[in-house]
Amino acid sequence: MNNWHRITRGSEHDPVATMSKHTSRSTILFNANVLTLDGRDAVATAVLIENGRIKRVLSEYEDLRRGYQAIDLDGATVLPGFIDPHAHPLALGAALRAVDCSPMVVKSIAQIVGQIAEAAADSRESSADWIRARGYDELLLAERRHPNAVDLDRAAPGRMVRLSHGSGHGEVLSSAALDAVGIHKDSTPPPGATIERDPNTGEPTGVLFEMGGWLSDRMPRPSGDVLNDYAETASTAFIAAGVTSVTDAGRDNTVDRMHLYSAMIAEGRFLPRPTVMLSPDGVYPNLESGPGVRVGATKIAITFSSGEMHPDFETLVEIISVAHGAGHQVAVHAVEIEAVVMAAEAFSAVGNRSQIADRRHRIEHASDCPPAIAKMIASAGLSVVTQPAFIYERGDRYVSALKSSAGGSDLTHLYATKSLLDAGTTVAGSSDAPFGPTAPLTGIQAAVTRRSLSGERIGPEQTISIREALRLYGPIAAWIDLQEADVGSIEPGKRADFVVLEREPGEVESTDISGIRVLATLVDGEPVFGSLPGL
Ligand SMILES: [Zn+2]
Repeated sequence: MNNWHRITRGSEHDPVATMSKHTSRSTILFNANVLTLDGRDAVATAVLIENGRIKRVLSEYEDLRRGYQAIDLDGATVLPGFIDPHAHPLALGAALRAVDCSPMVVKSIAQIVGQIAEAAADSRESSADWIRARGYDELLLAERRHPNAVDLDRAAPGRMVRLSHGSGHGEVLSSAALDAVGIHKDSTPPPGATIERDPNTGEPTGVLFEMGGWLSDRMPRPSGDVLNDYAETASTAFIAAGVTSVTDAGRDNTVDRMHLYSAMIAEGRFLPRPTVMLSPDGVYPNLESGPGVRVGATKIAITFSSGEMHPDFETLVEIISVAHGAGHQVAVHAVEIEAVVMAAEAFSAVGNRSQIADRRHRIEHASDCPPAIAKMIASAGLSVVTQPAFIYERGDRYVSALKSSAGGSDLTHLYATKSLLDAGTTVAGSSDAPFGPTAPLTGIQAAVTRRSLSGERIGPEQTISIREALRLYGPIAAWIDLQEADVGSIEPGKRADFVVLEREPGEVESTDISGIRVLATLVDGEPVFGSLPGL
């Protein structure tokens, strides 16, 4: 029995009657604008689904309607369900439950104070609980400074408040929170971290850099139930955005994270297909994908703080060669040019171009990527997973930071796509949510327009076409996640994972792409979000 009856609720059809009439597991979506994103970029008008898989893709459907449950899409656009090959679902769930202080919501410290005060007032939790807020960007606040403990104390007197910077690299604590984690006048920060101090008194201001992990270790750990709630919250956000496959790119993931998703899938609380990257310590010989959850790449992060690379080159080569030798895909987080160069050289030390390319080893971010670096990545045989949506959400910050610094790098090659494609590199799009916007349509819009939230154009040379942008979150993302046999395009034999959009992204103003309504999201042919026209 399929679940199509769910989407008939609230319509004039009687759901029970609909179900009893349609007991077959075959469905045809017709009168649709089906962008298959297959190798020929074929466009069709109907898709026949049988047992959760695509049976046929059709332009003529009339003679096939009899015997199938027929759904008239009334001209809506059907795309392969979006694939997000790099996100942090549990962090996203936590972020969605925190007070939103992102630039899309607040423009000043006064507004941050107001938001947090509101949360403190209607909190159903006890006053002993932490208030979590996130997403601020000091360069996009009217005051152009970080909020501090004084501001947070004013918002929620006596409460423990943690406000995280949108980048994930900064934190602000209230006075009660500073006390609770033991940060005082004489505290020394951990290596690579900074405790900002009042220049006159030497007292901590509440602003901390690179101390997110340190802080989390000192705060009450979320229970298993809370983690499950985070996963469920993230699932809801992903399917609402049309995402049907998502990769958890956590660098500390162990097999426990796979068990969490397996359990959530079994309970029907996590709906996109999860893939889990694992820390090098979390990879065991013969680790198998569990029910509904796939083993992803081995994740390594190169961090570049205070001029030092971590890990060093020899260690990086060692980690990559162990994972490569064990048959795993490797994903290296590398943001700065220096880190990307080190990653490319490390892979080249482990294998030749075709050995690296065959395993689809990948660089996550490669945030500043001029043509010479793009060529270096291509000749090492590496792929790139980029985040065009940062251009949209953080673009104004980059411009502002550039204007206030003397000289420095320009923004032409930020979250590059065109120069990577020109160099012959495979490049996929992803969200990095919650650090970037969750919706692929936002990334697609940014890749096509190269415009920030305020409309500023950043690196227009990197502009790509709408079809290229759609592929970043479809077939290419599927390929980079090693699941192109199953998902990523609308072709017979693949899973019936679709996103149904009210408008075709290529037919609206490019700056309106992110506003296109997701009418429905289908996983295995079953609607898991939304409703469809004509029902
Ligand atoms: Zn990430």
